[in-house]
Amino acid sequence: MTTEKGLRVLVAGGAGFIGSHLVDALLGNGARVTVLDSMLTGRRSNLAHLQHEPRFDLVQADVVDPLPLLGRFDRIFNLACPASPPHYQADPVHTMMTSVLGTHRLLARARDDGARFLQASTSEVYGDPEVHPQRESYWGNVNPTGPRACYDEGKRAAEALVFDFERTHGTDIRIARIFNTYGPRMRADDGRVVSNVVCQALAGDDITVYGDGRQTRSFCYVSDLVEGLSRLMACDTLPGGPVNLGNPNELTVGDLVERVLRLTGSASRVVTRPLPVDDPRRRKPCIARAGSLLDWSPKVDLESGLKKTTAWFSREMAHDAAPQNKDHALAG
Ligand code: NAD
Ligand code: UDP
Repeated sequence: MTTEKGLRVLVAGGAGFIGSHLVDALLGNGARVTVLDSMLTGRRSNLAHLQHEPRFDLVQADVVDPLPLLGRFDRIFNLACPASPPHYQADPVHTMMTSVLGTHRLLARARDDGARFLQASTSEVYGDPEVHPQRESYWGNVNPTGPRACYDEGKRAAEALVFDFERTHGTDIRIARIFNTYGPRMRADDGRVVSNVVCQALAGDDITVYGDGRQTRSFCYVSDLVEGLSRLMACDTLPGGPVNLGNPNELTVGDLVERVLRLTGSASRVVTRPLPVDDPRRRKPCIARAGSLLDWSPKVDLESGLKKTTAWFSREMAHDAAPQNKDHALAG
């Protein structure tokens, strides 16, 4: 278990899906938390339950710009970056700058404060992997000029910066390579497969499968991921390299769709759409390093995680459809 009692923690990107769950866990462990977020894909509603919490602050700012004066921190988590392909491709130059300039600004801050720094990296650094499962020692197979490059190469450059700060300045750093994560507080318009399929099934809309649906992913429930991030940050032994965090239970997109249809009892039709350019064919983390270093492994199986996620989206859709909330829902 981790204890953050009294620590001052900055969570860049803390109004987003994963970030907001991390903030809840940090506050639950006694930390003082400042969230810095541009609200590009994050939402104030993810943190609305904390508005009267004295150990919590929210600052709206973009990490690409000079950071506002915020006081000193003991720990900095960098989760600031849109994570879903349609969102990170909407303004690819800004996505790249977020990973490169933004990570640089936050690293400089960690160096100056003597803070421990954790970078939220991604399984996308492995690109369309040629080795399976993916170990941290694998250098990846990324198209550096394609439409995913703003995210993949941005995150790879950020990893290089993080290690250069360690080598040059002795900054205390950690890198989590996060694999596909899902759960409550994903946006209905996020565009990733779990939120799309669950919302489509609940609404009775067509379920969109990109390509033949035989590509695989390994989905991790958000509470497991947050526990892994917390342990990695709290770990006093330097990991000596990036750490994969994800659930190794691999399945095809077609299998995921079947499970969601069964779970929701939905009569939605399945329709196919073109496979996006450079869409990875297979993805599965090797989590041996996280196991030995952090004594961590995921606990929530896909069935339970999908049930919680479906129940949450179902409540959100009912709330947004209520007449008194319709304007609010349209305003996002
Ligand atoms: P998200 O889009 O819900 O959260 C990202 C947050 O960062 C949002 O609140 C957004 O407003 C904020 N943000 C984006 N650009 C910013 C900027 N320039 N300045 C300040 N804030 C900015 O996504 P998420 O799924 O919660 O992902 C969080 C982090 O984890 C991201 O860095 C993402 O790359 C990484 N990650 C997520 C997954 C996943 O499956 N969810 C997988 C791999 C890596
Ligand atoms: N996908 C799909 N239908 C959708 C959204 C995504 O079939 O409505 C596919 C997508 O092409 C990819 C997989 O699901 O093969 C996971 O996509 P997601 O965007 O969730 O994550 P990523 O590709 O970044 O791993």
